[in-house]
Amino acid sequence: MRPTELSDQLLRWYAAHRRALPWRETRDPYRVWVSEVMLQQTQVRTVLPYYAAFLARFPTLADLAAASLDEVLRVWEGLGYYARARNLHAAAQRIIAEYGGRLPHSYAALRRLPGMGDYTAAAIASIAFGECVPAVDANARRVLIRLLASQEEATRPATLRRLREHAYAMLPCDRPGDFNQALMELGALICTPQNPRCAECPWQAACRAYALGIAESLPRRRARATLPHVTVTAGVIRRADGRVLIAQRKLDAMLGGLWEFPGGKCQDGETLPECLCREVREELGITIAVERPLVTLRHGYTHFRITLHVFVCHWVAGEPQALACADWRWVTPEELAAYAFPATDRKIVALLQQGEAAQTG
Ligand code: SF4
Repeated sequence: MRPTELSDQLLRWYAAHRRALPWRETRDPYRVWVSEVMLQQTQVRTVLPYYAAFLARFPTLADLAAASLDEVLRVWEGLGYYARARNLHAAAQRIIAEYGGRLPHSYAALRRLPGMGDYTAAAIASIAFGECVPAVDANARRVLIRLLASQEEATRPATLRRLREHAYAMLPCDRPGDFNQALMELGALICTPQNPRCAECPWQAACRAYALGIAESLPRRRARATLPHVTVTAGVIRRADGRVLIAQRKLDAMLGGLWEFPGGKCQDGETLPECLCREVREELGITIAVERPLVTLRHGYTHFRITLHVFVCHWVAGEPQALACADWRWVTPEELAAYAFPATDRKIVALLQQGEAAQTG
């Protein structure tokens, strides 16, 4: 089947079956950009409320650039992969400074902005500005791999290059944004990782994986290594006036810019209270006393799992200094709501607000 026939079939299917999503109702490049960044590694239904809240708080690129990083992270809190929010904010400020507040129109210029990967730049360039460039995300990759019955690993750079070339061969340059979105939508709705609905697929007749009966086994998956486990402590450190100490993570660290209860990773042979006292001394230069356990939380990140042991502590001596953090504050329990925390620390905040009780989560 010729590439133009495939793209015609796909666009017809898309016209009939596309989901009505708020970012499809606009061509505003800023709104397209926000949606594309939020949708990276995150499902549509999770993104929907965040997209609405983000645009209510930062309706224009200028509003985003003028906000503090703290405000941006607070609205992003819970969506995860916080580098996306930091880069979005940094890129908005760069666009104000260097492009007069308007997103650059070309794929090549977009690609030079902070955090702007190949896929995101291509999606914005094609959807908002009509540039004829293929945007191949994980959904599109899966469809193309199956269409070709390719045995290559989907994430290898050489595979990605080939898939992009293949998408480009089918891309109608009068409707690049629609085609790119249609290909991703086919992957999201029909050519799903498990149980692809080949009977409803507009490309069934051309699909080699379907013809060979191997659709569900593609793309080939790498065996998952067991995730390493890390034991971590954190302290709810109280002062005599009832305020608690929170620290802001360094911007270049994982979860950078978010606030947390101080603490850190345990070393071999250390007890949990010893670990906590050492970490707080190294991070903030103060001495604390550990009173009692508060809660134990388990959490999985992309590349490791943690068990976080949280203790109630009190401040003993020393003025906090940002030795291994970006900033610190003594805050009242009510003020905690104004700061952006990672998921585990937000659970600690909730516990403090409910009236703490030792428990395991
Ligand atoms: Fe995917 Fe099946 Fe369509 Fe092939 S026929 S592209 S495997 S849904």
